[in-house]
Amino acid sequence: MNIHEYQGKSILKKYGVRIQEGIVADTPDKAVEVARNLSEQTGTKWYVVKSQIHAGGRGKGKVVGSEQRGVALAKSMEDVRTISKNLLGKVLVTHQTGPEGKQVNKVLIAEDVYYPGPSEPKEYYLSILLDRAKNCNVIMASTEGGMDIEEVAEHTPEKIIKEWIDPTVGLQGFQARKVAFALGLEGEAFKEMVKFISKLYLAYAESDASMFEINPVLKTSDNKILAVDAKVNIDDNALFRHPALAEMRDISEEDPLEVEAGANNLNYVKLDGNVGCMVNGAGLAMATMDIIKLSGGEPANFLDVGGGANAKTVEAGFRIILKDPNVKAILINIFGGIVRCDRVAAGVVEAYKAIGEIPVPIIVRLQGTNAEEGARIINESGLKVYSAIEFKEAAERVEEVLAEMGA
Ligand code: GDP
Ligand code: MN
Repeated sequence: MNIHEYQGKSILKKYGVRIQEGIVADTPDKAVEVARNLSEQTGTKWYVVKSQIHAGGRGKGKVVGSEQRGVALAKSMEDVRTISKNLLGKVLVTHQTGPEGKQVNKVLIAEDVYYPGPSEPKEYYLSILLDRAKNCNVIMASTEGGMDIEEVAEHTPEKIIKEWIDPTVGLQGFQARKVAFALGLEGEAFKEMVKFISKLYLAYAESDASMFEINPVLKTSDNKILAVDAKVNIDDNALFRHPALAEMRDISEEDPLEVEAGANNLNYVKLDGNVGCMVNGAGLAMATMDIIKLSGGEPANFLDVGGGANAKTVEAGFRIILKDPNVKAILINIFGGIVRCDRVAAGVVEAYKAIGEIPVPIIVRLQGTNAEEGARIINESGLKVYSAIEFKEAAERVEEVLAEMGA
């Protein structure tokens, strides 16, 4: 689960990680009001107005139909109002949102932390994430902060420092010092960075997160180290033990079809192709997507209906797949192991009838216990459903159907 920057920062603050302070607002009036409060709290005279969307690259992104950037400096209350007005309710496009962009519903009014002083402010990159290949967490750091880290990784990989953390013993003091040293810090800033990294790791570990990315971490002109941005991902499977984090979920940021699937206990991921698929088991679902590609189609989704495919789950799956306008055909590929094929076939027929006319051809491949019986039920249903028992047969059917439609 992704959360907003302001929510991520609230977690950091709870763990004593220094942050660029800020308050969220959802109207221009409220933005001015919170800016006043912020000024009283922190003494700041300038502000940064930051769109809260689940995507990065906001600083470079632009609002559709205007020149307004997703993150902008405000030097007066009037600026705060104007920028907030330009952002709220508008659609922001960044390199991470895709061309359709994301609607901005909240702005974070933050203190300006790039103030002048004895030294120049300097941006760093710091993240903690799960390294699945090494079965442990990794801290990644770089002096090239504020930039797109993918680009740094591609062009100057030597500028990325990595430190792996054994999850059983956690982050050791020497590791935090090693990272701070590799970033070239000294004196007060070095000590601050060591503290920053240690507390950040604790926040990450105790939240059951899979990623905390702070880009940039800022060394202010007076040598404070603080988080200017926070991109946080919490492991969905651990949310049940973090009710306060679970409440941070913002469904308006998620794909509506994926939300509906989740409510029906279906594991659904929307893709860009034209053949919808409904499968039991993640491995079989992957294989089915491969078969669709080999047949000249493109999978419109990944959909795992789980172990107990019945009329209700099949119907929910159908409804979700059919809401995707790109779907030109549906392939149902079920292995009858725990669930019997005749049961699934009856479920498909029942779901079909419950929905009424399904406008696209459906190919059903049932294999396993009572496969023949399942195929008979499908064939005798009188519905526009093709049955297949062999995988190859199903693939050929998909190919035929796509050819007939000229897709
Ligand atoms: P992102 O573009 O979505 O990653 O948003 P960030 O929170 O990282 O902000 C983007 C950029 O805005 C940063 O890299 C900074 O250059 C700039 N920025 C953020 N906070 C401040 C601030 O307090 N003062 C100034 N002058 N610039 C800021
Ligand atoms: Mn950033």
